Amino acid sequence: MEDYYEILGVPENASEEEIKKAFRELAKKYHPDREGGDAEKFKKIVEAYRILSDQKLRKEYDQKRNFQSTFTFDFGDIGDYFRESFFNEDIFDAFSEIFNFGERRVKDLNIYYELTIKLEEAVRGTAKEIYVSRETICHNCRGTGAENGRLKICHVCKGSGKETRKTKAWPGIFFEELKSCRNCRGSGKIPEIICSHCQGKGKVIRQEKVKIEIPPKLSLERMKIPGLGHEDLNKRGDLIIDLRIIPQSPFQIIGNDLILDVIINIVDAILGKEIYIPYFGQEIRVQIPPGVNQQDTIRIKNYGLKNGDLIVRVNIETPKRLSKRARDLLEKLREELS
Ligand SMILES: [Zn+2]
Ligand SMILES: [Zn+2]
Repeated sequence: MEDYYEILGVPENASEEEIKKAFRELAKKYHPDREGGDAEKFKKIVEAYRILSDQKLRKEYDQKRNFQSTFTFDFGDIGDYFRESFFNEDIFDAFSEIFNFGERRVKDLNIYYELTIKLEEAVRGTAKEIYVSRETICHNCRGTGAENGRLKICHVCKGSGKETRKTKAWPGIFFEELKSCRNCRGSGKIPEIICSHCQGKGKVIRQEKVKIEIPPKLSLERMKIPGLGHEDLNKRGDLIIDLRIIPQSPFQIIGNDLILDVIINIVDAILGKEIYIPYFGQEIRVQIPPGVNQQDTIRIKNYGLKNGDLIVRVNIETPKRLSKRARDLLEKLREELS
């Protein structure tokens, strides 16, 4: 188990401020964009901060740490940090301050969409139509933001794309840095006339209808539709669909398996029985073997979600009232068995 306190070099009882301070210093030092940076180390630092800066996660972590159990967080490459759940506002603030994210952050062009489908749709497959708002390059100015694509030299940076900016380091202490020009966003040029179509943004939002084919027997998964994300000058992001499946009575979903409870009577439990169970518009024949016990399960291969099975769970019901004849028969059975 990673020791997040050790990674950040703070004591276990460190305050939120101490944790933040340690994180900022280390993140600055090891940021992969910097000289002497270390991507692996940076990743660990970010992960440690992500946990320790969140009261709830920190508490959970502390408990697990005390029990010395395993506790793994696996986040892919560093880019994923910025794409996934990582965007805790605090961290974002810290990063904006340290690295001038506004300028340096590579924009995520992916569109994330959470699509909820019914269990039946997941089992049988379905097609869904969704609407996504895509940022696309303005065709009127081809992304330049200038009417007819005509540009002129930026008057702020005189075409260099750089400007000197003062940053407050400490009360009363400033340092000057050469940064990307904010007026022309570092390009050195600005539109002669602002594009009337996109108001100079170079991009327009388009609502697009996308048809999503969901194959049968899907498990909770991510689907990626390449090229249907936001558009930038030379690249396009992907549309990433996270599927959420709503359970549907009488089935329960456990992992990729479906669980179905069936009720049989005590005699069927002793003698076995052929039963038919409902399965999304069809019926499946299930042979309950003789001598089953309460909660015994019968596994029907490949009738779950992706590679999963349908598990039929036996519930035995004992009759509360018996006819005279039934009682006599059972009395005879008791004699026979003893
Ligand atoms: Zn335009
Ligand atoms: Zn400029």
